[in-house]
Amino acid sequence: MDYPEAFRAAVARVRAEGRYRVFANLRRRKGEFPRARWRTADGDVREVTVWCSNDYLGMGQRPCVTESMKQAIDDVGAGAGGTRNISGTTHYHVELEQSLADLHGKEAALLFTSGYIANEATIATLGRILPGLIIYSDELNHASMIEGAKGARCEKHIWRHNDVAHLEELLRAAPKEAPKLIAFESVYSMDGDIGPVREVCDLAEKYSALTYLDEVHAVGLYGLRGGGVAERDGVMHRVDIIEGTLGKAIGVMGGYIAADAVIVDAVRSWAPGFIFTTSLAPALAAGARASVEYLKSAHELREHHQERAATLKKRLAGAGFPVMPSVTHIVPVQVGDPVLCKRITDALLDDHGIYVQPINYPTVPKGTERLRLTPTPLHDDAMFDELIAAMDEVWTRFRAVRAA
Ligand SMILES: *Cc1c(COP(=O)(O)O)cnc(C)c1O
Repeated sequence: MDYPEAFRAAVARVRAEGRYRVFANLRRRKGEFPRARWRTADGDVREVTVWCSNDYLGMGQRPCVTESMKQAIDDVGAGAGGTRNISGTTHYHVELEQSLADLHGKEAALLFTSGYIANEATIATLGRILPGLIIYSDELNHASMIEGAKGARCEKHIWRHNDVAHLEELLRAAPKEAPKLIAFESVYSMDGDIGPVREVCDLAEKYSALTYLDEVHAVGLYGLRGGGVAERDGVMHRVDIIEGTLGKAIGVMGGYIAADAVIVDAVRSWAPGFIFTTSLAPALAAGARASVEYLKSAHELREHHQERAATLKKRLAGAGFPVMPSVTHIVPVQVGDPVLCKRITDALLDDHGIYVQPINYPTVPKGTERLRLTPTPLHDDAMFDELIAAMDEVWTRFRAVRAA
């Protein structure tokens, strides 16, 4: 086997499809988010504005978060020093789990090293704990849930995105007594639409299924205390397992589930992805807890965030850009071609200091390539002006499609 050639060919396949990824080398500056410095391939350093961060509220730079992280490092040092079972559980982890359980109105919560691992490990483990489990997965579920469902090694059905009639059809066809898990998301991060949480809970009750809700793009952002869409819609108590990340609106790193104590205890006891890995650094847990607690009363910040997103959508639509229909803080603008999408974002960065990553297949279906803008409360009107002027120039230059 010519190993180097095999690797080269693997990369060449990705390039041929126009989806070879180039990472922007950024240096954020604390206190100046969303401004950052970008180091070009030639080693130049340029000022840019970041338009595609998932640090939706800029919590990653908020002093209450960064100070608590520094304090934790000064108090206990850098790493956790072990798995949760072997010396790696600190008071910071325990307090953060209590804070997250409280956020979601659940008895308990369990930390993982990322939201990806939380999904993958929990769903796979449910498949092992519940013999004969049937998983019902929304067709647009995140890769981490899909991998979890594969790892569950059980029967699976994909229901058409947000289509509860299709979900019911599938549920009805299964044996009544079979254990069932419905896995879906609240905010879908590429289109900015929202899952039918209440209707899914109704079906789960009717067919005795468990519900598993990924609130990764909603925690901190929706609901009176930032508990997510399930909190906003008054159905948090009806969702069996809520999964979230500490890496997006919370601004730090890590993932978790929140559920009844008996469920959390079972996952804690069975999931390899939880058991056999070093626990989160204490400073991460400290920073995440400070952020979660801050966000429980940050209504104005959440309202400001929603205002910014609504205003940007309106302004882009007014300027003739094909803004896709989003009911959330996510602002997707359709381009529809992977090569053009990349040329547009390159030009925005090179010529205008606007950083937005192109979103191409397989993250979104072919033909729906797009820019995915995520305005935060720290993106002001002057930045909106800059963005729209830059997009106008680039759209004209490349004759990209405007809205009808
Ligand atoms: C980002 C993401 C995850 C993974 O969370 P991380 O903490 O970044 O690993 C899970 N689910 C969805 C829907 C996501 O977008």
